[in-house]
Amino acid sequence: MKGKIGLEEHFAIQETLGDSERYFPKDVWPKFSAKILDLMKIRIEEMDEYGMDMMILSLNSPAIQAIYDPVRAVEVAKIANDTMADAIAKNPKRFRGFAALPMQDVDGAIREMQRAVNDLGCVGVLVNGYSQIGDADTYKYLDDPIYEPFWSELEKLDVPFYMHPRDSMPCNSLMVDGHPWLAGAAWTFGVETATHTLRLLCSGLWDRHPKLKYILGHLGETLPFCIWRTDSRIARERRGVPAKRPLYEYMAESFWFTTSGQFRTPSLWNTIMEFSSSRVLFATDFPFEEVSAACEWFDNCSVGDTDKMLIGRQNSIDLFRLAGL
Ligand code: ZN
Repeated sequence: MKGKIGLEEHFAIQETLGDSERYFPKDVWPKFSAKILDLMKIRIEEMDEYGMDMMILSLNSPAIQAIYDPVRAVEVAKIANDTMADAIAKNPKRFRGFAALPMQDVDGAIREMQRAVNDLGCVGVLVNGYSQIGDADTYKYLDDPIYEPFWSELEKLDVPFYMHPRDSMPCNSLMVDGHPWLAGAAWTFGVETATHTLRLLCSGLWDRHPKLKYILGHLGETLPFCIWRTDSRIARERRGVPAKRPLYEYMAESFWFTTSGQFRTPSLWNTIMEFSSSRVLFATDFPFEEVSAACEWFDNCSVGDTDKMLIGRQNSIDLFRLAGL
């Protein structure tokens, strides 16, 4: 399919590049680091070769969320967002962007979000899970009451929020102790991100802010497959959960799911059957996954042409109001 739009497509700046190094063998790293830093040649050549019109860019992970010093987090978020805006200005037909945000400083995050959306033209925001604040061992999930003004402002700005994975805090990683091969994208990213999302859903966030638009990568981090059971058990014993309605209902109204890093047709069908083809969006997870693998799978998967056009392109145009495409 030509004209695909991808929306989990990462870049790095020198200040955040090292965060990705631990996921790669030494011999692969030089080629990978050249790809993730590139905002011109390499990625546009790959987009052209595999039928991608546009990438909606975002910073690598955990990046800003792992900068303990709130002042430095604000500074680096600005550098990242300015670098991305410069790339978009040079190639407005090929790139849009999600803003990186310094969630260690709620007021600073709100100000940077306003600047990124209103002045730089970002079409959404992307946060890499919980943020460490002050030191390595102090962290906050986004259901914390300190973030209430942030969600209010995001709802007013009316742009989507992308919840991107990061590894669990060491204190929460004991379940894979001795099994380092299960860390990161292999398994713990999904558990961490699904759990964070359940915290937000259960907190009643969508009762307070029904217009928030929320995107999950990796075909929903297992939640489309599992949410019936979660709702079923909570309905039997609510244990004081603040959310007023079944979690599935909030997801059906407010969630979108991307194909990033999850190039598997039965999993795609499960997400479509739970939430409809209008809520699934194409993404690759560049450069952690190959554009070639994502595009060859998607172009040939057993989904009809109408749904393929929605998932590959039109849903993104509608969700991000990509005028002129
Ligand atoms: Zn990613």
